[in-house]
Amino acid sequence: MATPSRKVALISGVTGQDGAYLAQFLLNKGYLVHGIKRRSSSFNTERIDHLIHDPHEEGVSFHLHYGDVTDATNIIRIVQETQPHEIYNLAAQSHVQVSFETPEYTANADGLGTLRLLEAIRILGREKETRFYQASTSELFGQVQEVPQKETTPFYPRSPYAAAKLYAYWITVNYREAHGLHASNGILFNHESPIRGETFVTRKITRAVAAIKYGLQEKLFLGNLDAKRDWGYAGDFVEGMWLMLQQDKPDDYVLATGESHCVREFVEKSFAHIGKTLVWTALAPPRRESKRKPGKCSSRSTCAITGRPRLIICSGTQARRRPSSAGVTKPALRGWCAIWSRPT
Ligand code: NDP
Repeated sequence: MATPSRKVALISGVTGQDGAYLAQFLLNKGYLVHGIKRRSSSFNTERIDHLIHDPHEEGVSFHLHYGDVTDATNIIRIVQETQPHEIYNLAAQSHVQVSFETPEYTANADGLGTLRLLEAIRILGREKETRFYQASTSELFGQVQEVPQKETTPFYPRSPYAAAKLYAYWITVNYREAHGLHASNGILFNHESPIRGETFVTRKITRAVAAIKYGLQEKLFLGNLDAKRDWGYAGDFVEGMWLMLQQDKPDDYVLATGESHCVREFVEKSFAHIGKTLVWTALAPPRRESKRKPGKCSSRSTCAITGRPRLIICSGTQARRRPSSAGVTKPALRGWCAIWSRPT
């Protein structure tokens, strides 16, 4: 299927946010791109529909394969058929809160799914031909052990999602060390975009703002308004994934913007976008860290926002500041890191 002169990439989780951006990025670079998509009774290719062409047409560079990372035989078959130079394992049950409700499935897909892809590379004898990227996460830091977090910061996962990703992280390191694979972990902080899943807080807010503007919604319920996140742009982060696999040697890398912002700020900016200035009022007993701007708030016009304490937020990753590679030598990525600090 592959022509020798052309690089071939296989993306699991191609129908997700990052999969869509990465597929486009690799196609722009001239890759032949294969994506694994799950069989679904409803449409699940919305984010990549613009990339899909009939495979019978000439010169098609983007191909989809039905598959699931919980199914080892199918993973081996796809790797065998596509003969990829690079595999990007983005497939995951990626929602922290949902992982508390589906812990076993999350462990299977997010943890063992990674093992299945690594094993496919090994079983097919492609240790020297196929480079591997694992979508690791800043959720591994969970209850943070130091600020800022960097590659050497000890992990402390605080959810089934993070625990599953911890296994995936270490099995990737293990296959690198034990079998000589070019396998790297990208420990990515949050990255967002207009095609981020609708249940994630950024999209929950922006969708609500649009609905409020058009009179379709009155209230927006949120968790901890003071929760801080380092939010980047997914379109930039996929370039980071690719760069990791272009390094001579595999390694593990933290990617972040270096700036953290609280949910409250995100809400304010989003409403400002539709010309609404929010006025925060104290309607609940102030908690220690939010004395000035506690719990509930409302705007001058019709919308109201309620900060409702939620357990998941409390057990999620704590506020983080600028992660850096201080003390870790990564010369080839240093120049690249600058792209996060450019104004958007
Ligand atoms: P999404 O939730 O948008 O996409 C997840 C993708 O995985 C979807 O294509 C989904 O398919 C697919 N998938 C889920 N389960 C399976 C399975 N069993 N077999 C095959 N495919 C499956 O996540 P993102 O694009 O935002 O994230 C990509 C990766 O990066 C994930 O692993 C995530 O955990 C990780 N990550 C993301 C961060 C972020 O801020 N976005 C931060 C750090 C890490 P379907 O469309 O059918 O549901």
